[in-house]
Amino acid sequence: MFARKLATQVLRRAQGASLNVLTRNTVATAAAPQPIQEPEIHFNKIFINNEWHNASSGKTFETVNPSTGVKITDIAAGDKRDVDKAVKAAKDAFKLGSPWRRIDASQRGLLLNRLADLIERDRNYLASLETLDNGKTYANSMAVDLELTIRCYRYYAGWADKNHGKTIPLDGNFFSYTRHEPVGVVGQIIPWNFPLLMQAWKLGPALAMGNTVVMKPAEQTPLTALYVAQLIAEAGFPAGVVNIVPGLGESAGAAVSSHPELDKVAFTGSTEVGRKVMVAAAESNLKRVTLELGGKSPTIVFADSDLDNALAQTHEGLFFNHGQCCCAGSRTFVEGKIYDQFVERAADLAKKRVVGNPFDAQTAQGPQIDQEQFDKILGLIESGKKEGAKLIAGGKRHGDRGYFIAPTVFSDVKDNMRIAVEEIFGPVQQLLRFDNMDELVERANNTIYGLAASVMTKDLDKALYLSSALRAGTVWINCHNALGSQAPFGGFKQSGIGRELGEYALEAYSEVKTVTIAVPKKNS
Ligand code: NAD
Ligand code: MG
Repeated sequence: MFARKLATQVLRRAQGASLNVLTRNTVATAAAPQPIQEPEIHFNKIFINNEWHNASSGKTFETVNPSTGVKITDIAAGDKRDVDKAVKAAKDAFKLGSPWRRIDASQRGLLLNRLADLIERDRNYLASLETLDNGKTYANSMAVDLELTIRCYRYYAGWADKNHGKTIPLDGNFFSYTRHEPVGVVGQIIPWNFPLLMQAWKLGPALAMGNTVVMKPAEQTPLTALYVAQLIAEAGFPAGVVNIVPGLGESAGAAVSSHPELDKVAFTGSTEVGRKVMVAAAESNLKRVTLELGGKSPTIVFADSDLDNALAQTHEGLFFNHGQCCCAGSRTFVEGKIYDQFVERAADLAKKRVVGNPFDAQTAQGPQIDQEQFDKILGLIESGKKEGAKLIAGGKRHGDRGYFIAPTVFSDVKDNMRIAVEEIFGPVQQLLRFDNMDELVERANNTIYGLAASVMTKDLDKALYLSSALRAGTVWINCHNALGSQAPFGGFKQSGIGRELGEYALEAYSEVKTVTIAVPKKNS
């Protein structure tokens, strides 16, 4: 009985917290498990060739519980030497004739499905570990991160034997066709905001297409990536296909992006580091680069919208995952006619948002990831006050330990204020006013970023016009954060290069080879 009640609570909370991230088809299991408050840590080393290794330097770094600021455990700090070893293992695994190169494409799909099964088996443990290391609510870890992670591996499992080339009507007497081959040995650098999910977005298409991988998880959240490493071995992936090297950005991360023998680097994180990754890739060996970077996404509310929905979408569109989303709707443009009413209701919603222990079922918002982000967000809040925006909710830390920040809302925000220009990556909502469409489009597009945008309106003409006028990789109409494995995701402008998810992501992990065979004239 208790289990069923908890299941309902967890699901309700998750649905409330994430809205569209969950699809309607997610079913609650009758006996949802309880969170493990202190999950045991099984893996804290470097994963190469399906085995665990200490760092070559013998050094470690700490991963911290953001709810308390207290160390969880020490993690082996990989550096260039460890990345070199991992690349060697991945290169060997990619050699012609290796087990990985010989297995059927359908078998790669089977392995990915087995991995999804194992993650499903250990779902409660992984959700608890994610909440411990990252601070996101357990409800969201379970219902969003784990759900979407499992679905992502299954989605790409299906693609493993379905991405094929074409026959080409080349002039002359030739039989010409294309093969979609793996890029080769791929470096992947992932962030801390969705550790398991970002790992899945990267490993899913890379492995479906037959690449081998050296991955560096974020130093703030290495624990779940390392646990999944063990599941990869358990699923039966050959040694060296996936290697995971935890470590700091400037050492392990830089060693990946500048490695002369990696064929590609895929990066998700800040625009600042994305630029460094691209330079390092260019200067080392011109490896292929895909980048998924920051954003300052506009959410636009017209007076003709369903106001309750618009409030809910823009609220969750910003506060979901504590504002730590690359597609957070952090500039909300509200039509003048309803501006004052909207401001009041948005502030009420923020004040009602429950902040606290992320393991509690009532909590909607846990801590920010670390001291650095906490300080950066509070600094930006101060800048908003100084530059004349009106603080109408929050604006300060919550509690006296850990990295909690009260849900914050600013009204009367002007386009040139720092809070309207810079990515905050925290629970801080900006409400701007607009009065006509031409001015709106120009202002919404006036940013170096172009990751996402959303529009709340019942007017189909406005929706269609804005979905083409807005320069962003995703435009949502009457929703925000509606994401899934099937739909591509990525940025215009400085929000990135390339697309993840969907069929488009396969292109980022394959090379096209043209094979042309001379056909003897008598047969043509
Ligand atoms: P970051 O860009 O520094 O870190 C992302 C990843 O890159 C981590 O794995 C990190 O170790 C690695 N890295 C850092 N320096 C590197 C280097 N020189 N070479 C190679 N890899 C390197 O992000 P952060 O410092 O953790 O967060 C800073 C800001 O980045 C945030 O405030 C937010 O604006 C943005 N961010 C965006 C996303 C996203 O999903 N697009 C995710 C996390 C952070
Ligand atoms: Mg950093």
